[in-house]
Amino acid sequence: MSDVLTPDICVIGAGAAGLTVAAAAAAFGVSVVLVEKARMGGDCLYTGCVPSKALLAAARHVQTIREASDFGIIAGVPEVNFAAVMAHVREVIASIEPNDSAERFTGLGVTVLRGHASFMDRQSLMVEGFEIRARRFVVATGSRPAIPPIENIDAVPYLTNETVFELKRCPGHLIIVGAGPIGLEMAQAFRRLGSEVTLLEAERALANDDPELSALLLESLRSEGIDIREGAAVTRVGRRGRSGVRVTLGEGRQAAHVDGTHLLVAAGRQPVLENLGLKEAGVAFDKSGIKVNSRMRTRNRRIYAIGDVAGGPQFTHWAGYQAGLVVRSILFRFGGKLRRHMLPWVTFTDPELAHVGLTEAEARRRYRNVQILRWPFSENDRAQTERSTRGLVKVIVNQGGRILGADILGRDAGELIAPYVIAVGGRLSVKSFVDGVFPYPTRSEAARRAAIAFYAPKLDSPWLKRAIRLLRRFG
Ligand SMILES: Cc1cc2nc3c(=O)[nH]c(=O)nc-3n(C[C@H](O)[C@H](O)[C@H](O)COP(=O)(O)OP(=O)(O)OC[C@H]3O[C@@H](n4cnc5c(N)ncnc54)[C@H](O)[C@@H]3O)c2cc1C
Repeated sequence: MSDVLTPDICVIGAGAAGLTVAAAAAAFGVSVVLVEKARMGGDCLYTGCVPSKALLAAARHVQTIREASDFGIIAGVPEVNFAAVMAHVREVIASIEPNDSAERFTGLGVTVLRGHASFMDRQSLMVEGFEIRARRFVVATGSRPAIPPIENIDAVPYLTNETVFELKRCPGHLIIVGAGPIGLEMAQAFRRLGSEVTLLEAERALANDDPELSALLLESLRSEGIDIREGAAVTRVGRRGRSGVRVTLGEGRQAAHVDGTHLLVAAGRQPVLENLGLKEAGVAFDKSGIKVNSRMRTRNRRIYAIGDVAGGPQFTHWAGYQAGLVVRSILFRFGGKLRRHMLPWVTFTDPELAHVGLTEAEARRRYRNVQILRWPFSENDRAQTERSTRGLVKVIVNQGGRILGADILGRDAGELIAPYVIAVGGRLSVKSFVDGVFPYPTRSEAARRAAIAFYAPKLDSPWLKRAIRLLRRFG
């Protein structure tokens, strides 16, 4: 006989998505059961955002020392203690861990169950001797690394995001398959920490980003010594020597080889759907994830799905946004719809690459008259003082000056994108940036200068020229 629980909400998965739902619902005094089969905190805390950004932060310090002489400081050649770098990564995780812990959630009033959850039918779920009949269920089981069908891949030891942060020694030569944000971030981190790095991408690196800005980012990464090859499809992998790896690109006579010491696969993600009883629950899914409508509801109206398992973009902040929609929908019945154009994303390399809204290509498909406003950081005084002038702000506006999207390449682009998130969501025009007073000297001034560029062609009008002439004469 199993114990029966009847909460208002049962959340499956305590990653970014599930934790947000549980915390928000509990704050409203709603009864919540949260089920987690592994570690509370999920991918983001242990194998995703947190360790990757902690590793990048360490790598940035190495680079700062390397570039110190540009500022008149003699710091010598940096020495990397890889074991200590990894200890730093673990410390950062440990400092955030309590926020996601079972103790904290129990304290918030959430019932935390440990074990694998599986639906028995359309309205009940089994977890380790408990039967849960909730008013609503939220599936937030996340994703895992997708392993491409490369010949012999299972015969070779390879790393993924689940194992790379457990390395004990810095790889001599790291070969990375996949040049999306994760591949690029890891490439720069390991290169700066001392590895030789080869990055192989079957198609275009950063395929979802603005081609102009991603090309500039690749140029910058190449200048640090990362060997980036686009259009390089890996067909086979094999062992080389006792512990090395050989990667084959292309077929037959065209085939080429790259030899390295370690292989990291960062070629996309696949949703975690196994043994969840989704068929029994009447929830539709395919290999890209659980099928949901714009309110994150599945085919079974009692069940929602959010986060990486729901297909679509896979980001912690997107999972959090979806969680907010679902909580409002369950508690107040006015969740609102998913607004895809609101999604920003950032590749946390140095320089960072950030995006929100429509890309230039999307905007040109939708609008007849699109204007592109640019301002380079080489024309920004703060960037000059810091000797970090790579990149630019690129803003996509319609004929009337409404901001449709923005892309930024540059130091701290992930912070600088914030006003554009508000502008795109609030349908603001460049005028809000022109009217604003921005502190000097800051990188954010580049946003204002890009906005002013919208009015520059209008200064060419004969009417305005005449007015300026008259003003000069009589003013
Ligand atoms: C290397 C890397 C770097 C990243 N960097 C960033 C970044 O900088 N910014 C950003 O926004 N995003 C980043 N991401 C993406 C981000 O980590 C994910 O989008 C986010 O973690 C997804 O959260 P989730 O709750 O959907 O899934 P998860 O965090 O994977 O959580 C799902 C949870 O469900 C549990 N679970 C699964 N099945 C069951 C079951 N049947 N029963 C009980 N429990 C179950 C799992 O154990 C897991 O804890 C990164 C990802 C990676 C891999």
